[in-house]
Amino acid sequence: MQECVFCNIISKKTPAEFVYENERVVAFRDINPQAPVHILIVPRKHIATTNDVGEADKDLIGEMILVAKQIAQQEGVADSGYRLVMNCNENSGQEIYHLHLHLLGGRRMTWPPG
Ligand code: AMP
Ligand code: ZN
Repeated sequence: MQECVFCNIISKKTPAEFVYENERVVAFRDINPQAPVHILIVPRKHIATTNDVGEADKDLIGEMILVAKQIAQQEGVADSGYRLVMNCNENSGQEIYHLHLHLLGGRRMTWPPG
């Protein structure tokens, strides 16, 4: 596997501001935040894109949503609202090919996205 930025964060080779971690999932603040709250929820398992998610990953993906919900509460954006985003491949603008869920909140967002 090529050097992966998020694998390096998970193994603590690269620093990040963690807000949550358990045996399967970690969450840390995005280095280039697009909203007052911008956190990435990331499985420890290296999965490149949503196209690579398998049947065996169902619980893991569900857990990522539950962790996002918990962090939204912790960060005080659960009631005001937030957006969960997973980019896949080039047209979405995916930059890091290790699955991650963006949690964005703390400001009013527009739809459709750019
Ligand atoms: P995506 O375009 O969905 O692949 O999003 C990748 C996100 O990772 C972007 O929002 C980046 O700002 C963020 N990012 C890249 N490198 C780091 C890093 N070292 N620590 C925290 N966030 C990062
Ligand atoms: Zn990785």
